[in-house]
Amino acid sequence: MISSHKRSSLDRDTTFYAPKVACFACYDSGIVSNGDGLLNDYLTDYDATVIDGVLHRHGGLDLAIICHCNAAYESQDFESQTTRSGFRDSSGVKSTDINGRQQAIGVDPDKDMMRKIHHKRKDLWEKSAKDLNSLRQQVRAGMTPQLPDYIATVKQQLKSVDQLLPSFD
Ligand SMILES: [Zn+2]
Repeated sequence: MISSHKRSSLDRDTTFYAPKVACFACYDSGIVSNGDGLLNDYLTDYDATVIDGVLHRHGGLDLAIICHCNAAYESQDFESQTTRSGFRDSSGVKSTDINGRQQAIGVDPDKDMMRKIHHKRKDLWEKSAKDLNSLRQQVRAGMTPQLPDYIATVKQQLKSVDQLLPSFD
């Protein structure tokens, strides 16, 4: 029984870590994520519409993009019990019955594109971790570090966050 509510020093570690996943294209979920918009570098109109040359993103607009990594396949435990049903099998992306018609549960993307997204996102996470750990070290040393552009921009945007949200009164 633990008698103290204080965390161990290891648990109080303030190091910023990139996600610990095998696949940065889908973050080991089997479905390619686009939270950072990186997918739009390859598929311009994915989950988006282009109006007058400006990209408007709407998550969930298009079919899911099924990754090529292991996370997209069924997995079983030692008793051959299925622990994850998977989005693919040996014949490709699985389909589902929608009102008597078979429809693929997602699209099969180009393997090379997935590989590029995985590597690019992995590099970006590594860069972010390096930046943030450097900033945290500077703050701990009592300095006021210069924020990288991408943090300064979000900080500026958050100042007007009340205008981003709809008003209900
Ligand atoms: Zn994946």
